[in-house]
Amino acid sequence: MHLNKSVTYFSEHEVYPCPICLYGQISPLSLMDAMACDSCRHIFTTDIEKQQIKMADRQPPLIWRWNGKKWAEAHIEGVMGWGYWLGGIAFVILPTTILGLTVYTRPPIPGSTLAWLPTVWTGLAFLLHLAIIVWLVIEFYEFPIWAYLKSKRHLFGR
Ligand SMILES: [Zn+2]
Repeated sequence: MHLNKSVTYFSEHEVYPCPICLYGQISPLSLMDAMACDSCRHIFTTDIEKQQIKMADRQPPLIWRWNGKKWAEAHIEGVMGWGYWLGGIAFVILPTTILGLTVYTRPPIPGSTLAWLPTVWTGLAFLLHLAIIVWLVIEFYEFPIWAYLKSKRHLFGR
């Protein structure tokens, strides 16, 4: 068996770079199967058998695997199911369709002062609902990026 000195096994007794802020270090918390970052203060639970850590203070949890040199790309525990996607699509499409149908079946008198309003209203409803969904998706997937940017600001700000 080859033993590569630069590749190490993840152990709960060592100090590792923080996978979220990439700036702080995570070190073991005494009496717990957990590690905490000294910079962004996030807490991770450790799984030595699987060589991975799980970000504990977030739902759904994010998981990083130690590949011997660094933390491999984060992944989310459990994937966003089809139900969420269908719900999200319906949330955007349904109100827009109902508004659109109302406008279509009861068109305003052409040339009247507010003839443009229902069309604009329908467009706004679509954009607003879409924005809510996009925001939710960003919240769901990119949270560590915000934490990362925040810690970078802290890094450059001093
Ligand atoms: Zn950190």
